[in-house]
Amino acid sequence: MKTIKFILFATVLLMFGCNQKKDQPVITEQNSQNYTGPIIDMHIHAFNEGHPMFGMTHPPTLRGKTYKGVNSAIEQKEKTLKKFKKYNIVKAMVVNGELWNDKDDGSIIIGGTNTDVDALKKQIGEIKLQVIAEMAPFYSGIQANDPSIMPHFDLAQTLNIPVGFHIFPGGPNYGLHVLPEMLGGMRAKNANPLQLEDVLLKFPNLKLYIMHGGWPYIEDVKTLMYMHPNVYVDIAVVNWILPQEELENYLKALITAGFGNRILFGTDQMVWPETIDDAIASVNSSNFLTIEQKEDIFYNNAARFLGLSEEEIKTHKSK
Ligand SMILES: [Zn+2]
Repeated sequence: MKTIKFILFATVLLMFGCNQKKDQPVITEQNSQNYTGPIIDMHIHAFNEGHPMFGMTHPPTLRGKTYKGVNSAIEQKEKTLKKFKKYNIVKAMVVNGELWNDKDDGSIIIGGTNTDVDALKKQIGEIKLQVIAEMAPFYSGIQANDPSIMPHFDLAQTLNIPVGFHIFPGGPNYGLHVLPEMLGGMRAKNANPLQLEDVLLKFPNLKLYIMHGGWPYIEDVKTLMYMHPNVYVDIAVVNWILPQEELENYLKALITAGFGNRILFGTDQMVWPETIDDAIASVNSSNFLTIEQKEDIFYNNAARFLGLSEEEIKTHKSK
């Protein structure tokens, strides 16, 4: 079923490289209280050894910062898990998380899409795949309402498994031009989150989160969220690739519209562990956010979305 294959370039497609420019501090002046409680990261990647992204340096972001890539799967895992410890990241949705699941302590939520639906079903049974993510037909020039991917949504709704659907922006900025061989299928005309509406109508009980928040289509994101209560957004990449003010404008637009309880924290850490530092710091340094709003973004919203038990939440919050 060749139609399915593209979905899954997801992981592969989010790989970019380049370099230069000395790192610059990302953080703006900090006036509001820092959140230091437990964090759930809804968007992380684990790679097998030999992955082509290893060693890549991310080109300058719209903040003007570059990130040096780790060189191996072991380094990726070790440095990412070290950040988990540093920031009290108690749970993370990790695409291909089975590669890191040796701890078996419940901290890794296994995500994946790199297969057809029959293989997905098998993975759900065999490796305890818990989230269908990152679905990214975008990189093949295909929209969410394409008939070829309806079986994925159908499976997710039937089994009550959340779906993470990639839309704009992802990374890197100018990705089409930076890596045309991998990201050549990207088109601006396919980036609008309204493409999900047919899916949401067909599968009204689907638990769905828009990965990367659907920036810059904030009005359309608000429209979708107003129409469909089961739509959440993650703020991965936008929280380290966009200028701080733009991130804050985006967060503020969602929160003032009344959707502060459907924003999920994520980083989209691939081979640049420092993006975790900056993603957390950029939310913490959004001075208009109250500490309660930060807690919702960093933890509470994901706990509700994932249906964590009271007991697990209590355990996390007591750490
Ligand atoms: Zn991703």
